[in-house]
Amino acid sequence: MITRMSTLFLRTLREDPADAEVPSHQLLVRAGYIRRAAPGIYSWLPLGYTVLRNVERIVREEMDAMGAQEVHFPALLPREPYEATGRWTEYGDNLFRLKDRKGGDYLLGPTHEEMFTLLVKDIVSSYKGLPLSIYQIQTKYRDEARPRAGILRGREFVMKDSYSFDIDDAGLEASYLAHRAAYIRIFDRLGLKYVIVSAMSGAMGGSASEEFLADSEVGEDTYVRSAGGYAANVEAVRTPPAAEVDSSGTPAAHVEDTPDTPTIDTLVAVANRLHPRAGAAWTAADTLKNVIVTLRHPDGTREPLAIGLPGDREVDMKRLEAAISPAEVDAFTEDDFRKVPALVKGYIGPGVLGETKATGIRYLLDPRVARGSAWVTGADAPGKHVFDLVHGRDFEADGVLDVAEIREGDPAPDGSGPLSLARGIEMGHIFQLGRKYADALGLQVLDQNGKLVTVTMGSYGVGVSRAVAAVAENSHDDKGLIWPRAVAPYQVHLVIAGKGEQITGAAEDLATALGIAGISVLLDDRNVSPGIKFADAELLGMPTIVVVGRGVADGVIEVRDRATGEKSEVALAEAAHTVA
Ligand code: ATP
Ligand code: MG
Ligand code: MG
Ligand code: MG
Repeated sequence: MITRMSTLFLRTLREDPADAEVPSHQLLVRAGYIRRAAPGIYSWLPLGYTVLRNVERIVREEMDAMGAQEVHFPALLPREPYEATGRWTEYGDNLFRLKDRKGGDYLLGPTHEEMFTLLVKDIVSSYKGLPLSIYQIQTKYRDEARPRAGILRGREFVMKDSYSFDIDDAGLEASYLAHRAAYIRIFDRLGLKYVIVSAMSGAMGGSASEEFLADSEVGEDTYVRSAGGYAANVEAVRTPPAAEVDSSGTPAAHVEDTPDTPTIDTLVAVANRLHPRAGAAWTAADTLKNVIVTLRHPDGTREPLAIGLPGDREVDMKRLEAAISPAEVDAFTEDDFRKVPALVKGYIGPGVLGETKATGIRYLLDPRVARGSAWVTGADAPGKHVFDLVHGRDFEADGVLDVAEIREGDPAPDGSGPLSLARGIEMGHIFQLGRKYADALGLQVLDQNGKLVTVTMGSYGVGVSRAVAAVAENSHDDKGLIWPRAVAPYQVHLVIAGKGEQITGAAEDLATALGIAGISVLLDDRNVSPGIKFADAELLGMPTIVVVGRGVADGVIEVRDRATGEKSEVALAEAAHTVA
């Protein structure tokens, strides 16, 4: 295919957009791949849309190859199934809810476990229909607290989500491993450097959930790794008490502790019940819907242990504590609370670990506190999960994070050496759900003995639009994007660098020959200076740049490798053959 720059629907920008902080966002906007429509919501222009479809194609090919079948659900979904599983409420502010003209409740799907479970219930009635893996590539909606970095964290984004259905645990394990293998192939083909980390470990020891994190400083996930190969998301280095883990290895929901709409009073009650301390009491201030839980000491002094701002900013406790004395916090007025965002603005980090001086209670405040989760661990009650302000779906089972275990240099739990901290972008997440959704929605089938059994499920997601940004993040330089061949919008960027029939004719012929050879070509036939064309070619990032210019008189053209910068002269007569 040949596309002419003179007609391409494209406008490149000289300057980075003001709201873009990370390279992939800056470059994708500057190079005319995407445009912002609203916060966290982006339009795809021709080049960007081509990359997106290339990523989709890779994902689709690997899902098909592992035997999953593609389906497609609506994005606009009824409330009832989500009510049945509790997620209509649990999802909290992240869920886009809306009403139809008759007042009926709907939502824009953030993920589709409920719908898949119900469809399978509708269609499969016996073990003979299993195992089954079905998937879709769908637009998802999450009203993210902090949409950021362009399409890296959107409020509308494209996800591949698949779901496996099996009759027993061994079947689930096999489906899980098949997905895991497919994900390895997908991320390898995308050319990403990534690690597979445990997203949940704990008492059962198994790998009930793993994440694929692309190596990147701009990633929002912090993980620990050891030279010996241990790797776990920090949120996974948890030690759930055995009693809280059900047979599928999933820590049971803290139903009692996390009422659907926790009020401050409930939270304080929960904190006091779960974390009783002699002579001290949990108190809370609730103003402007902000939440502060403080520990009141016998001598009357108070320490803030966790702060959640439903306005959803991350809080740097150290900065906050430096700015406000802990004793003052409890007495905050509405006005004081209005000042809090100013103190926390600009904080981007994996979380803040701290230890209260008097009690030795350690606390963790991580970005998810923005969504309202917090854990506190203490010497007298090691690893106690104190409260959840809101559930997040996110497959992040309630658990307990012992922050003491995730300090740089600590030994890895499996003895494979000291831990170091690193950051990554969550590209994919595979999860053995077990029977939670099947139970809630009554998905049962007849087994070989004619007995009704509950189906066990897995769910597996790939961030398809996020992958476009992650690849760009992984592969660019100060001049622009550098696409790997597998996803590049065009294989060759052919620059006509000069005027005159000889040069133009040679370039057109070469483009035609490449097109015939199945090579996609972006032909820069614009009437602008070669300098502008070269700069655009580097910005747009096709893997091979071919320059047809004055050399044509001597029968040569130039071939540049965008990634390495290597240039070579190639005989015009050989050009189509060499480039193809
Ligand atoms: P994150 O921790 O980044 O918020 P998540 O754990 O909430 O992601 P999952 O529910 O596991 O996401 O969804 C599966 C995949 O969808 C993720 O691994 C990620 O690649 C992608 N994804 C999730 N949220 C977004 C988003 N807001 N924008 C783009 N991709 C996303
Ligand atoms: Mg996550
Ligand atoms: Mg999320
Ligand atoms: Mg996830």
